[in-house]
Amino acid sequence: MFRKKVICVGCGGSIHFLETLARCGVGRFVLFDGDRFENTNIATQGAYLSDIGKYKTDVIKERIVQIHPDAEVIAVKRFVDDTLTDEAFAFLTGIQDDSPQDVLLCGCTDDFYAQDRCTNLAMRFGVPYLAAQIFAGGTGHEVLFWVPGLTEACPGCMLSTRYKKVLAGDAKEKGESAGTPPFITDHLNALKADFALKILCNSEETTKYYCSLEKYADRNYIMTSFEGEVSAPAFEPLYETEKTETDLTYPAATVAIGQDKEADCPLCAEKGT
Ligand SMILES: [Zn+2]
Repeated sequence: MFRKKVICVGCGGSIHFLETLARCGVGRFVLFDGDRFENTNIATQGAYLSDIGKYKTDVIKERIVQIHPDAEVIAVKRFVDDTLTDEAFAFLTGIQDDSPQDVLLCGCTDDFYAQDRCTNLAMRFGVPYLAAQIFAGGTGHEVLFWVPGLTEACPGCMLSTRYKKVLAGDAKEKGESAGTPPFITDHLNALKADFALKILCNSEETTKYYCSLEKYADRNYIMTSFEGEVSAPAFEPLYETEKTETDLTYPAATVAIGQDKEADCPLCAEKGT
């Protein structure tokens, strides 16, 4: 676990995810975030009064080291966007010196273009990628991942409708996380941590996560609905069952939804990967 490196882009909402990975023994972290903690983050991101005004990366670095004193944590106080070149990213993360199975790049921002940049970086360097977002108001959340050589559909395939909408100006570039109860963020962080370990330890025979990713390889989009508020076809069988079965309800229902490679994917089709 000490060899494993988690690169997290956008750190505020991921504090508990990163702390959990440190508790699980992950030894190396690279944190990207240009923001400082504000008062509202006490309600939304697990910040304390003493954190206000400090860079999020510095605060999280301190917490990780409090859990895992030998952990190597690199705090990068900037955002990942088109102004960060591939070369600069490689230099800051040391990604080219690592075996891809020891690295996980996590896109944890609610900005479409930042997520897109992270996706491209993961595909460019051939390292596993995990992305997460909360739906408007916290009605649910999504986790998706891409592992070279294992998953067929890339994030572009999975989110092709969203890509087309944003690029056509028909959808917002930023998520609406306002009003999200903090426990929804914690729930998402728990799921992110579970899949992060599945990805990082899939090839590690001595761990309980050995080969745990195979069953999700073609179902690499995981969606959670709270109290049936998310309207999506994947949940319809659950909701139908709820209507007819008097003793079954599905609070915080999570489904892993089958994904296909898209012929006109904005990411992998052009590059032929
Ligand atoms: Zn694709």
